[in-house]
Amino acid sequence: MTISSDTSSYIAGNFLAGAGNSFHAWDPVNNLALASCGSCGTEELQKAAHAAQSAAPVLAKKSGQQIAEFLQTLATEIENLGEQLIATGMAESGLPEARLQGERGRTCGQIRAFAELVQDGSWVQASIDTAIADRQPLPKPDIRSQLTALGPVAVFGASNFPFAFGSLGGDSAAALAAGNPIIVKGHPSHPATSTLFAQAMDKAIRSCDFPSGTFALLQGDGHQLGGDLVAHPSVKAVGFTGSVAGGRALMDIAAKRPEPIPVYAEMGSINPVFIMPDVLQNNSDSVAAGLAASIAMGAGQFCTSPGLIVTLAGDFAEQTSKHLAQQARGHMLNPGIANAFKQSVATRCEDQDIELLTGGAGAENPLQPENSLMKVSAKNFIAKPELLEEIFGPVSLLVECQNIKEMQDVAEAMEGNLTATIHTQAYDQPELKPLLEQLSKVAGRVLFNGYPTGVEVCPSMQHGGPYPASSAPATTSVGAAAIFRFTSRHAFQNCPDSLLPAALQNANPLNIWRQLNGQPSQAAITQ
Ligand code: NAP
Repeated sequence: MTISSDTSSYIAGNFLAGAGNSFHAWDPVNNLALASCGSCGTEELQKAAHAAQSAAPVLAKKSGQQIAEFLQTLATEIENLGEQLIATGMAESGLPEARLQGERGRTCGQIRAFAELVQDGSWVQASIDTAIADRQPLPKPDIRSQLTALGPVAVFGASNFPFAFGSLGGDSAAALAAGNPIIVKGHPSHPATSTLFAQAMDKAIRSCDFPSGTFALLQGDGHQLGGDLVAHPSVKAVGFTGSVAGGRALMDIAAKRPEPIPVYAEMGSINPVFIMPDVLQNNSDSVAAGLAASIAMGAGQFCTSPGLIVTLAGDFAEQTSKHLAQQARGHMLNPGIANAFKQSVATRCEDQDIELLTGGAGAENPLQPENSLMKVSAKNFIAKPELLEEIFGPVSLLVECQNIKEMQDVAEAMEGNLTATIHTQAYDQPELKPLLEQLSKVAGRVLFNGYPTGVEVCPSMQHGGPYPASSAPATTSVGAAAIFRFTSRHAFQNCPDSLLPAALQNANPLNIWRQLNGQPSQAAITQ
């Protein structure tokens, strides 16, 4: 398999080298510097923003059919990148071949799912309330509304999913599907992977005759470029996956703009797993084994990695520790993440209230750290809010409680999370309902008797949660509903039928499902 060393930016249909400082990605498995890449600056950002602004009205007028064809072509072009995409992604992330093959399937699958959604057209949520001229005391006007494209969207991909949350990942697919141009700030860990995606996009744009400003890739290392992109007046929304620090910085920049814009950021989560007493008595060893595998999976570099285990004092800590010590060690994604992990584990180990059960910060090669488990009492956990902070990597903290009341107290101390998990078969125990109620307040998704790693891509999925898991808990970054983030709703009052957008016209020429006077309907309106 050949690794691509081409590391370009892509602006208005042209591949170019950013004129600023150069940086390079790192192969974490072979501990090697990869090809260097030039950073974009103000001039490149201006060009990308100008092209996106020109493309926005053209894209907003594309039919669902045209956008669907474009997305289908894009998915095919990504597949046509072949093994070079896999080899390049492996070199830039250290992720194994099978994982990246699966991730490519997921990436193309989610693009195709959005294609189907926009082809059907009903996603625009057309809603029509017809006039009642003789209503008393005042006539009721005719009001019709629908979702429409927002304008250029800035997208920031994550280090841990170079494809599915990368330059053409879920946020990009959702924003494009809604009819928006996108400007991607390439992740500095994957410049060559991002360049390959830009090549696929270039082919799709040309073959479907879409405007050249439909997509831009701005490569760069350092926060200035991303901050300037979010501050740019042409940008109308942001999709972000990554750290709390990064997401929060971009939320603050967006809020301080003369025209504030929405930031849809998916950030930190410790994904608590509650093990109820009946499990400790019945099948604790198999749950401990499953949990250990989930902690070590992908070297813990999943946003849904179980970073917190809450249970009663007993053998479970030792059982989990034993299974975790038997798990293979994975590779960290890049030296920055490896060093941050080592530092955070070392800091926790210095805390006298925390007991290290297995692993620790002592691995010779920080790029291949030990899988670690620590233990703390519920009392100390609740007293130390810093223990709510995520450590990105293969580590979990087990909170030992004296009774179920303490388990509930720990749940009450939680911040926002992407997931929370409950292990139990005793569904009639009285403590379960209050625990579930609390966890469903603080987590986007509550799972029973499973492990949080692994996110099904389907319409009912909720991948989000209260801050700091996400910046907008009513939204999801996975599944069809992700499209709604990059839209705005506009209403027309007493507008002549011939001037209405097709989705709102009486004849229903798109044959979509609409809300008609509060009821779902596919019928034409006869007046
Ligand atoms: P990241 O460091 O937040 O970077 C994501 C993207 O945002 C990159 O393109 C980065 O580029 C940019 N960025 C970061 N901070 C910025 C700022 N202040 N202003 C403007 N742009 C900024 O996330 P990551 O690389 O995926 O992961 C690194 C850390 O994120 C980990 O150590 C971990 O603690 C945390 N984390 C990530 C995830 C995830 O799902 N990815 C989940 C949990 C935790 P520049 O650096 O070039 O600005």
